[in-house]
Amino acid sequence: MTTVRINTETPYDVIIGSGLLERCGELISAVHTPCSAVLVSDSTVAPLYAEKARKSLESAGFSVSEFVFSAGEEQKNLATFGELLGFMAASSLTRSDIAVALGGGVTGDLTGFAAACYERGIPFVQIPTTLLSMVDASVGGKTAVDLPEGKNLAGAFHQPLLVVCDCDCLKTLPPERISEGVAEMIKHALISDPSLLEPIASGNILENAELLVKRNVEIKRSFVVGDERDSGRRQLLNFGHTVGHAVEKLSGYSVSHGQAVSIGMVAALRGAGGADIEKIAALLEKLNLPTRCPYGAQEVYHAALGDKKRSGEYINYVVLESPGSAKTVRMSKPEFRAFLEKAVPEGV
Ligand code: NAD
Ligand code: MG
Repeated sequence: MTTVRINTETPYDVIIGSGLLERCGELISAVHTPCSAVLVSDSTVAPLYAEKARKSLESAGFSVSEFVFSAGEEQKNLATFGELLGFMAASSLTRSDIAVALGGGVTGDLTGFAAACYERGIPFVQIPTTLLSMVDASVGGKTAVDLPEGKNLAGAFHQPLLVVCDCDCLKTLPPERISEGVAEMIKHALISDPSLLEPIASGNILENAELLVKRNVEIKRSFVVGDERDSGRRQLLNFGHTVGHAVEKLSGYSVSHGQAVSIGMVAALRGAGGADIEKIAALLEKLNLPTRCPYGAQEVYHAALGDKKRSGEYINYVVLESPGSAKTVRMSKPEFRAFLEKAVPEGV
């Protein structure tokens, strides 16, 4: 078991290890007096893990009510958010009670946002069960739901009280879901610590899970602490995401986020003309992630201009100076257009 301390304005621990779900009640009771807890999970995760979590919480003295919603990004919306708030009210939750998110990033984002809003803010605990939510979504305090107009458009910054990563949960995760987390881990390695590429490349993600999750949480921490509200250094975490978001959108979300980020990272490398492009592209392909952009510069340009990260006439685009070192470049629209001609040349 490893603990990573996140020193945000309200600090919290990320505990990483195996067999932790059975101990979640004890771990949570160390940071919050036993109280009423709303346990939130989706229809896939609930039958796998909710009973274990409930038992552990109850034996530590929490009284648990369970909220289960249909699995899938489509449910990360205002309707489910409203139902969860209603459920919290019906369970007579007060500000001294807690919400517990048991699941992937969808569950974490939805629960965190409801916890941020219910009675103007109650504490919440993250128990991430996907690789992506362990290495990315559960740390940093961003919570949100999607609107019909776009992803994550309604949300709040709300740091969790505790994050419990039980790597055993990854054993039931389908391989394509593992790849989603791998894409963000490679992003972390490229912008911060290229030595991490080697254990990722070995392909033994599950065997090395505790170490990989720990290192990735530390990297995410290094970008979040000091820039909780995402106005400076934290934006470097968007490496690969400008073209990535455009590709997701253009594909009608049939290209997954991780796949799109993989394409976006290769595009960012190509556009800036770095030396390691072919090596990194080969690594991504070895790990079953796509590298070829199915859309040309023109399409990507128009899709990217609709992205919420765009401010005014300029695009803040993250490029790699060298492996381990990223920077934000402010590009005018014509500069961005020219960059894309190199980044996503037709037919590559
Ligand atoms: P998800 O929560 O939808 O989980 C993916 C699928 O895996 C779901 O069907 C889920 O039921 C299933 N699942 C979860 N754990 C499982 C397990 N252990 N075994 C078997 N199946 C399991 O999606 P995700 O990929 O975890 O996260 C994506 C979401 O996270 C997006 O909504 C994205 O916007 C958000 N996100 C948020 C942040 C942040 O900083 N808040 C960062 C990155 C991503
Ligand atoms: Mg991402």
